[in-house]
Amino acid sequence: MSNPQYMCLDGDIVPFEDARVHVMAPAIKYAALVFEGMRGWWNAEQEEMYLFRIPDHLKRLRQSMKVMRFDADYSDEYLIDRLRELIRANELRQDIHIRLSVFLVGDGEMDATGPTAFSISALPKGRMVKEVGGIECAVSSWNRISDNATPPRVKCGANYVNGRLALLQAKADGYDSVIILNPNGKVAESPGACLFIIRDGVPATPAATQGILESITRSTLVQLFDEALGLQAREREIDRTELYCAEEMFFCGTGYQVLPVVSIDRLKVGNGEIGPLTAKLAETYVSITRGTVADHPEWRIPAYGEG
Ligand code: PMP
Repeated sequence: MSNPQYMCLDGDIVPFEDARVHVMAPAIKYAALVFEGMRGWWNAEQEEMYLFRIPDHLKRLRQSMKVMRFDADYSDEYLIDRLRELIRANELRQDIHIRLSVFLVGDGEMDATGPTAFSISALPKGRMVKEVGGIECAVSSWNRISDNATPPRVKCGANYVNGRLALLQAKADGYDSVIILNPNGKVAESPGACLFIIRDGVPATPAATQGILESITRSTLVQLFDEALGLQAREREIDRTELYCAEEMFFCGTGYQVLPVVSIDRLKVGNGEIGPLTAKLAETYVSITRGTVADHPEWRIPAYGEG
């Protein structure tokens, strides 16, 4: 996959190679960076790309900047305009993954709060489940970071050190991915996604206070479980052994959408195949994100048409 021609750096459309930052920036020295991963879904019939729940991502970005005490404010309107401009400049007519980062530039020290800059990339990326099917996971021996240390609720680059340690260990051990427990031994999340299980027909997901990123896909799916399947998902504590007893399990996130987990610690989840509720929910999620059904137009912003 080749890189697109352009990126957006601090509001300007620049050649991909020119989107650079100095090594003395606090973003590099202290990982002073927050970001959002977002998606654009190509609807071939309508010849339109739909950007999914962008204002919700920008709200979370603002929350991350606040906790990190960044000296910056960018309006939704301004950032969405830049994003649409970038997609059009690259003439993207396929599914994409968008990364919007805000970071500290200059040569400040550990207590710097500015100046900030931002970047936006928009790269072709299709549906994960089509690429990989169901995945095999381990429970990590690493603990999830916690709210009074480096809060998982904040989407900052530094938090991904924890996810990397867990993921690299799991891959070295022959697994596709990993689930990380919080310091109380309860299920938190995976390095780049939240998690649902189905037990006795009831969906459950770790509560927002269990050491997770407050995932936009997670909240979308809680709503879609209700609307499409008539099921009330519980947001609660989940024990490790509940993972072994679940009938179905899946990761959820903007990058992954609904990604079935078919084994955990080499124990099959259910019968080891993608479960029926997971499949139905995934189909509903895909049709809403891509705009092939009319439901929830408030979640979609067209990249090309009037939005
Ligand atoms: N947890 C982590 C650690 C993540 O990186 C992500 C991806 N942003 C998620 C959960 C899922 O969040 P969302 O549904 O908002 O993409």
